[in-house]
Amino acid sequence: MIPGADEYDIDVSIVDAAVEELLSVTPDDVSPADELSFCRNVFVPLTTACRYTCTYCTYFDPPGEATLMSTPEVRETLRQGADAGCTEALFTFGDDPDDRYEAVHARLDEWGHDSIHDYLREVCEIALEEGLLPHANPGDQTREEMATVADVNASMGVMLETTAEVQAHGGPRAKNPGQRLNTIRNAGELGVPFTTGILVGVGEDWTDRAESLLAVREMHERYGHVQEIIVQPVVENERWRGGTPDVETLRRAVAMARYCLPDEVSIQVPPNLAPARDVVDCGIDDLGGVSPVTDDHINPDYEWPALRELEAVAEHAGVPLAERLPVYERYLPADLRSDDLGGVPASGEWVSDRIRAALDADDPAGERYRAVLAGASLAAD
Ligand code: SF4
Repeated sequence: MIPGADEYDIDVSIVDAAVEELLSVTPDDVSPADELSFCRNVFVPLTTACRYTCTYCTYFDPPGEATLMSTPEVRETLRQGADAGCTEALFTFGDDPDDRYEAVHARLDEWGHDSIHDYLREVCEIALEEGLLPHANPGDQTREEMATVADVNASMGVMLETTAEVQAHGGPRAKNPGQRLNTIRNAGELGVPFTTGILVGVGEDWTDRAESLLAVREMHERYGHVQEIIVQPVVENERWRGGTPDVETLRRAVAMARYCLPDEVSIQVPPNLAPARDVVDCGIDDLGGVSPVTDDHINPDYEWPALRELEAVAEHAGVPLAERLPVYERYLPADLRSDDLGGVPASGEWVSDRIRAALDADDPAGERYRAVLAGASLAAD
């Protein structure tokens, strides 16, 4: 039983035979992709407040120290990103700031917002004004919270990390796998193209990894909304001394993800978070986001990869590199998709009227989006 499944009424059924099958998968059982994709994004760490205290995480700041970006700060960052040719505004959070973050709540109140989601909606509107498609990762979300911002996001995401109860999530405010799956389910019910992923090396075992991937697969089979799954190793940092998984572990985990998820779900290993070259033959087809203008605040010990690094990974794999939007093409209306989806079934129409209007706009941003869809953008410049 997945911890928290009862509490959140998660009816995922993982059968032992499927776990056993996945446990037998090796990199030899999957094929390399024939193209790698990436997205140009601008990273906006909206708040570093988080109700949790995961022991491997350097992102969150404790109460009294957490930051909350103001709308002028957000707009300036977004404008730099749009000027640099980005298409995605990547809004990252901790997880809903709890009552301990009095200063954050006071500031939100001063700005006329009664919740961080209410504020997120405002900054997503700013992103659309500045010519970027929002992709928000606000941690766990209730259905009501997600509904507040769903129509102003091209896609959203949260890392499942693991369905296991691990010490790294321990303490009085432990992250709850059932709650994470509830967030993924909410996205499915609301028709939001969604990104999730597993974190490798935080105390889970191979069975836990298999169960985590199977849980995501079941959610996708139900709703068709999982556009990609990230396979990310934990890394040593000032808060985590528990080690980093070796390359063989990562290769096997990536191969399991590719084997487990249907072809239409991309497998992402970002070079800024993992040795992508070492796993590029294990079925990955996406290298994540690259930001030309901001630092990676999630893992400040690692530089955000330059576009040239993405090209080098693709060259190493001997496949082309293609830019994509934050919402994968198969989730766009038929008239915006190219004919060739590489044999991948289109997932129907998932974008809101607001996002559709941005894609159709007769302005530089609209032209940029359509150039990416037409494959006319430069992979790296
Ligand atoms: S990993 Fe996410 S949920 Fe955990 S402390 Fe960091 S920001 Fe919060």
